[in-house]
Amino acid sequence: MKEAILYDKQDSGRTKCRVCPWACNIAPDKAGVCCVRKNTNGTLYATTYGIVSSVAADPIEKKPLFHFHPASTVFSLGSLGCNLRCKHCQNWEIAHARPSDGEEARAYSLPPDAAVKEARSAGCKGVAWTYNEPTIWIEYTLDSAKLCREKGLYTVYVTNGYTTEEALDTMGPFLDAYRMDVKGYTREFYKKLTGIKDPAPIFAAAARAKKKWGMHVEIVTNVIPGWNDDDHQLEHIATWIHNELGDKTPWHVTRFYPYLELSDVPPTPTATLEKARRIGNEAGLKFVYIGNVPGHPGENTYCPRCGNVAIERQGYLISVYDVANGKCKKCGEDLAIVE
Ligand code: SF4
Repeated sequence: MKEAILYDKQDSGRTKCRVCPWACNIAPDKAGVCCVRKNTNGTLYATTYGIVSSVAADPIEKKPLFHFHPASTVFSLGSLGCNLRCKHCQNWEIAHARPSDGEEARAYSLPPDAAVKEARSAGCKGVAWTYNEPTIWIEYTLDSAKLCREKGLYTVYVTNGYTTEEALDTMGPFLDAYRMDVKGYTREFYKKLTGIKDPAPIFAAAARAKKKWGMHVEIVTNVIPGWNDDDHQLEHIATWIHNELGDKTPWHVTRFYPYLELSDVPPTPTATLEKARRIGNEAGLKFVYIGNVPGHPGENTYCPRCGNVAIERQGYLISVYDVANGKCKKCGEDLAIVE
């Protein structure tokens, strides 16, 4: 447990958190919406500082990040809590945990220096904060990211993007990649699926990560039948990516599997994902990937100029790599790949 950053003490004994747009005004002995930032005697504490629930050395392709250090292994860490309440959360056991209430959870202590040391001894090229929302873990991810910089490891946020500008700018100098979900496009959709009122800060965060901080950005949309698979919503997402992040920003349209409160919704048909890919391409996006359909040709990177299969993937494995210095080896086209 560590005193939080980015909050204000109030005369009433309450604390006002500035990390995400909920802007929780937290009474003593209570925690914010994320359940991990708790007011104790008028001081806000990050209760999950150094608390880790999940650790793995993963292929970077699993995040998924397809244009960022391909084929590298990334030390992936998750903690507890989340600032969204998605109805289909695949990681609900950790994301919906309430550690501030003393709830028992499968977690242990791993301070930043130990995490970075483990990452290096596992042969990882970088560290990703993933599995649950890293923004609400900002004190820990900030200290860890600074250490990563010193040790030459890259740094990745796998995030829902629901952050304040101030929190993003605090992490900005120390983050290399921002793998952000765009779950839908409308306010109604975000409200119904995640509980937040307005997704505008999410869209602003991705643009700021890219434009102000020069992070490598990739977007994921989990396409849920009957929820966000209509042409209108997919076209809006694709056009937004094209206009705000650039035509070479990878967009991953991934298969949904029935889970949690959406257990009655069927898995996404492959044809729907192919339609989403087509919509992305028609909006001008050069790299639209189909996810969670192993062996689908939509997992590969095709050179937009000559059509060469620059990267062929089999699930998380790369079987062909025809790229040099981020460019297609056959024609020299820039594929916007960070190597
Ligand atoms: S990070 Fe947590 S406590 Fe802070 S505003 Fe967001 S939900 Fe509330």
